[in-house]
Amino acid sequence: MKCLLIVDLQKDFVYPDGALYTEGVEKIVPEVLKLIREFKSQNLPIITTADTHVENDKEFNIWPPHCIKNTEGWKIIPEVENELKNYKLRYHTEKSRYSAFYNSNFEEILKEIGADEFHVAGLVSNICVLFTVEDLKSRWYDVYVHEKATDSYDKELHKFAMREMKEVLGAEVV
Ligand SMILES: [Zn+2]
Repeated sequence: MKCLLIVDLQKDFVYPDGALYTEGVEKIVPEVLKLIREFKSQNLPIITTADTHVENDKEFNIWPPHCIKNTEGWKIIPEVENELKNYKLRYHTEKSRYSAFYNSNFEEILKEIGADEFHVAGLVSNICVLFTVEDLKSRWYDVYVHEKATDSYDKELHKFAMREMKEVLGAEVV
């Protein structure tokens, strides 16, 4: 079963007033919406993840505070929410670290769906996308990273992430 995995498309990353916004990342949104429509038209499952922190989270030793649960910046962007409204095969997980697998219900969702082929989009390519893909590939799932539907705050790290996922992890970059 094929599924679409949309990583952390939250206001804090995508909107100009977001805590960890990078200029230009919003260009991936139309590409993500295209993928959502494609998967919906085939009745395939779509999983969204939300980076979710508590105030004074240890991760804020590395990054400025962002995606604190129940704040505006934590919310999935409305463009995505509207496209997924009332879609029966939409699943959602809150995660507190880079990989969607860590300390979340992500694996339960995967078991429920029975997915074995993942199409990955979202932010950011060299962190949450990379570490989630690493965990997917460690379980030998088929993974397709949609390059136009992901981005980073750093172009070099973005390129590195694409190479790492392709050459080291064995994901397809499409
Ligand atoms: Zn975070």
